[in-house]
Amino acid sequence: MHTIEDVVARGMCVGCGACSVRTDGRVSVTIGRRRSFEADLDGVVDADLRAAGRVCPFSDESRNEDAIGTAAFPELPHDPRVGRYSGLFAGRLRDGDRLLGSSSGGLTSWVAEQLLERGDVDGILHVVSSDDPAKGLFAYRATFDAAEYRAQRKSMYYATTFADALASVRGDGRRYAVLGVPCFLRAARLLAEEDAQLGSQLAFFLGLVCGHLKSQAFAESLAWQAGVPPQDLETVDFRVKVPGRSSSRYDFGAVGPDGEHDVPTASLVGGSWGHAMFQIGACDFCDDIFAETADIAFGDAWLPRYKEDWRGTNVIVSRRPELDALLRESDELVLDELDLDEVAATQAGNFRHRRIGLRVRLHDDAAKGLSVPAKRVPPTLDGIDSKRVRLVRQRRLISRTSHDAFAEARAAGDLHVFLDRMRPLVEAYTRIDRGGLAQRFASRLRRRIRRLVPGR
Ligand SMILES: Cc1cc2nc3c(=O)[nH]c(=O)nc-3n(C[C@H](O)[C@H](O)[C@H](O)COP(=O)(O)OP(=O)(O)OC[C@H]3O[C@@H](n4cnc5c(N)ncnc54)[C@H](O)[C@@H]3O)c2cc1C
Ligand code: SF4
Ligand code: SF4
Repeated sequence: MHTIEDVVARGMCVGCGACSVRTDGRVSVTIGRRRSFEADLDGVVDADLRAAGRVCPFSDESRNEDAIGTAAFPELPHDPRVGRYSGLFAGRLRDGDRLLGSSSGGLTSWVAEQLLERGDVDGILHVVSSDDPAKGLFAYRATFDAAEYRAQRKSMYYATTFADALASVRGDGRRYAVLGVPCFLRAARLLAEEDAQLGSQLAFFLGLVCGHLKSQAFAESLAWQAGVPPQDLETVDFRVKVPGRSSSRYDFGAVGPDGEHDVPTASLVGGSWGHAMFQIGACDFCDDIFAETADIAFGDAWLPRYKEDWRGTNVIVSRRPELDALLRESDELVLDELDLDEVAATQAGNFRHRRIGLRVRLHDDAAKGLSVPAKRVPPTLDGIDSKRVRLVRQRRLISRTSHDAFAEARAAGDLHVFLDRMRPLVEAYTRIDRGGLAQRFASRLRRRIRRLVPGR
């Protein structure tokens, strides 16, 4: 069995901090060598380790997404790709000005704000600009005021922990909606089951669809390439919308002493999500894409008909009929009903990385005798084409190398140390990918020739 000790030893800790909250801080969570939060289990007694293991999203001691989803939404239908669901939508805010201040269609913050304004909750636990440099540029915080909440939107592709924020609200008698990526919400659900006080306080779980999480170095690396070195970096905007461009081709904004520098994200080394640079180790062992334990999950509707609208459109999987009604009855939104296949198609790349890729990684680690968590896909290469296997392995190499290469660049004060090490790895990835394209083209050509020249 893959225990919490294995999670930490194998670099699969996502830094959520549930173990710390569960043990009243006897497990500490601090920023590690790879610039993301990690639990420190040294000197922790066995009883605390086992309690912590029960809320850790990567330990086999905890209940998985299927078990939590079944308990939370027993009456809802289930699909292996999205989990349980009551409503499936694509949508965005009608208000153009407000929409620009959100990463995608703006419905995550709209729903959270509705819950606050209707008095369903007293506060939102979410990630905002940090006022504590020790935590980095962004951190979890509880926000109680709707206007203050609205001022802190957009996606933070940035390693955080909710250890302090959850510990600080526990027992304050208020009710909260907690917002987070799928593994954080699995951990929050488990905490709510184990801890009666938090159980009575965490009233809504709002999920963000997730491809993978980035270490804090991701922001610094992109900013440095945009012209703002780490020591001058004040903040970043991971998603600057650009009129007329496809919504997936957003800019990255780096703010330094001389203002904001906006650069197309895709033009920067590490800017392509497919390369998984600065990905946290835990994400290599995760199969939850649509935040299956959340009451509602929001992502980007990456379908051609929505992608072309530069303002952004959400895909939404709802699991509470009252939230379906909230969305359907509002005249502030543009909303389409989707079917399951359309919802899954919005995350095609995500499924390749997190379901097919996960099978490869589980297989590779198991073959080396390494401990891996139990997942909902089998550890086998069966049925996966060789190009995909090579791409998955190359992506893992890129991801692992990026952390060390950037640490070396920072120590040397020279961005090129990082760029020179990463570019050849990215080129190799592209060659594998293009090789696949060339192969597909050649076999299509052969098929066409066979059709034209019978007998060949
Ligand atoms: C690490 C990460 C990976 C993602 N990967 C994908 C993906 O692969 N595919 C996809 O379709 N969508 C992905 N998303 C979701 C997407 O980026 C948008 O966040 C989502 O579509 C919501 O957009 P919105 O306009 O509705 O939100 P907004 O109106 O901009 O509101 C966002 C809200 O979320 C909060 N928030 C932002 N980041 C975090 C965070 N890290 N933890 C907790 N709260 C946060 C903000 O405080 C704000 O309240 C990812 C998000 C994150 C954070
Ligand atoms: S993943 Fe979360 S619960 Fe598990 S060890 Fe890390 S911080 Fe603790
Ligand atoms: S990919 Fe999975 S492990 Fe990584 S941050 Fe997203 S939900 Fe968590």
